[in-house]
Amino acid sequence: MLYIDGEWRGAQSGSSFEVANPATGEPIGDVADGTQQDAADAILAASEAFSGWSRLTAFERSEYLQRAYQLMMERKEALARLMTEEQGKPLKAARNEVQYAADFFLWYAEEAKRVYGDILPAPRSDQRFLVLRQPVGVVAAITPWNYPVSMITRKVAPALAAGCTIIVKPAEQTPLCAMEVFNVLHDAGVPAGVANLVPTADPAPVGDEFVTNPAVAKITFTGSTEVGTMLAGRAATTMKRVSLELGGHAPFIVFDDADPEYAAKGLSLLKFLNTGQACISPNRIYVHDSVSARFLEVLEERVGRMRAGNGLEEGVAIGPLVDAPSLEKVDRQVQDAVAKGARLRAGGTRLMADGMDRGFFYAPTVLSGVTRDMEIYNNETFGPVAPVIEFDNEDRVLALANDTTYGLAAYVYTQNLGRAMRMFEGLDYGIVGINDINPTAAAAPFGGMKSSGWGREGGREGITEYLETKLGGFSI
Ligand code: ADP
Repeated sequence: MLYIDGEWRGAQSGSSFEVANPATGEPIGDVADGTQQDAADAILAASEAFSGWSRLTAFERSEYLQRAYQLMMERKEALARLMTEEQGKPLKAARNEVQYAADFFLWYAEEAKRVYGDILPAPRSDQRFLVLRQPVGVVAAITPWNYPVSMITRKVAPALAAGCTIIVKPAEQTPLCAMEVFNVLHDAGVPAGVANLVPTADPAPVGDEFVTNPAVAKITFTGSTEVGTMLAGRAATTMKRVSLELGGHAPFIVFDDADPEYAAKGLSLLKFLNTGQACISPNRIYVHDSVSARFLEVLEERVGRMRAGNGLEEGVAIGPLVDAPSLEKVDRQVQDAVAKGARLRAGGTRLMADGMDRGFFYAPTVLSGVTRDMEIYNNETFGPVAPVIEFDNEDRVLALANDTTYGLAAYVYTQNLGRAMRMFEGLDYGIVGINDINPTAAAAPFGGMKSSGWGREGGREGITEYLETKLGGFSI
């Protein structure tokens, strides 16, 4: 269903589309298929709601967000189960995501009250300078399927806190999770028109309305670099503000002074999270020559113990990939690497046993001897494959790590303090984990450099993306 102007409704076209469980291929729901006209209606509702919402006090807006946090926590288990069914990640990971998603409501319930202005020194004695921060206006958001709840709250919470109104177009693979987020907002009493949802099976016409409708002041997008670049270019023609969270190609560097067993454990936990379908997933694993044998041994052993299957089952660590094209892409990258000389140490095949043939499962895979001529070295995999590359020198590995158009996340294992700092400063990435595989939280700014995007989400920075700075010059 669409959620427009405070009401659940069908699409103008009267048509709907089916949502399937990627683990079983079974249909799990039917969702109204929003059209360009529905998007225009939602934008109109958000425009009409803007003046009332932006004039509420920060304390009032904060209360809505606090209620949304409470409701999402109460519904955590049901939401997590739905996420596992719709997106495929194991239940434990789904619970973690719902917690992360709810955290944005709470964090921005607080940040709403911290939007301060300034009084600046002015050049004339009869002059006063004031700086005011105001909401940008109507925001149009496009979100992905890999984190189907938190990627919505990471945008909606700061937008609402700032006083903006919003329309969300969720990914076509995961509209059911999006609907549950909007049920939370509805039940929290968020006024009609302030937050609207337009699911669709065909994103292009809705996206078209977002980037061309003059009432939209800002576009916020999380997804592929290709689509993000296209949307940003089009949004520029009407000078909309744009925030982008795009692809990544994260390096993961293990130095000779690190404990290779600890690093291999970290990699096995991080790389296979969400079946590798994360923009901060390590994609190029550089391991120093002198520790690579032990690193690979531990990694292989840990990967060998990982169980793939339906995420609702206890003990499952690897869920399905989201769809058939994703499965094909992962297999193509693995076959290309092997054909060019990489050594396959684990996995390397689609999983078909125990009913897995009905879903999109790929075995957790480890490759060593990966080189720069391989597709996997150069392109984001978005799947459960760990490509290992050996190196022997700090300067060279830093240059290799930075030699990509992406700049989202990077990881380093070292016990040398100076080296840790040199890496932190030298890596051209928006997020750097030093001996740390989870440098993300509602309180932390998330975002990329270079082709990985514009702007930051979360943290103190996240709300500034939804604010304009206005200078007042007063002569007294
Ligand atoms: P992925 O390959 O990870 O699915 P996409 O960039 O295709 O990445 O998808 C991310 C989001 O962008 C989804 O909500 C999808 O529906 C949306 N999207 C894809 N193509 C377009 C488009 N032409 N216009 C607007 N949104 C789009």
